[in-house]
Amino acid sequence: MTVNGTHLRRINRGAVERAAADLLRALGADGDAEALEETPRRVADAFAELLTPHEFRATTFPNDDGYDELIVARSIPFHSLCMHHLLPFHGVAHIGYLPGERIIGLSKLGRVVEYFSRDLQIQERLTTQVAGWLQRELEPKGVGVVLEAEHLCMSLRGVQKLGAKTVTSALLGAVRDDARTRQEFLALTTRTSHDQ
Ligand SMILES: [Zn+2]
Repeated sequence: MTVNGTHLRRINRGAVERAAADLLRALGADGDAEALEETPRRVADAFAELLTPHEFRATTFPNDDGYDELIVARSIPFHSLCMHHLLPFHGVAHIGYLPGERIIGLSKLGRVVEYFSRDLQIQERLTTQVAGWLQRELEPKGVGVVLEAEHLCMSLRGVQKLGAKTVTSALLGAVRDDARTRQEFLALTTRTSHDQ
């Protein structure tokens, strides 16, 4: 079953706790150590929290004033779990849209990112899910989503330097097809953090 294009996952906490205890033993941890006694439960709690999306109401408003310039929210913080290593990746999202008939409260843009982040993810999929959701819910003239994230599975394992960022983008409608709009969106969103 899917909601908003995401698979609805059921988390079996007891099974997660048993698996975490097995993992600890397999990692050579001392199964009797008092400090580890609560670890399987904590692991289950942590995964349950990280993988349970918060439903939210997508409140939109009529674009009564006919606003027809880009609306951009920059540097929305997010974190998610990489489905390949079960390690976090975290960073910022920049989201913009060129409104049509409806506009959406800016705080909802952060909720959308958080909703799709609480999943076993890859950054590319997260990016396109956020863009697709905005396209479906708002039917804007264009949507742009840029995610910049550090993946701990890369930065902690020596493949990449600490702090190296992976950047993904999804551009739809006028943000993709109209050169001026695309330029404007990318200029607003791809400045490095030093420029802020
Ligand atoms: Zn990974």
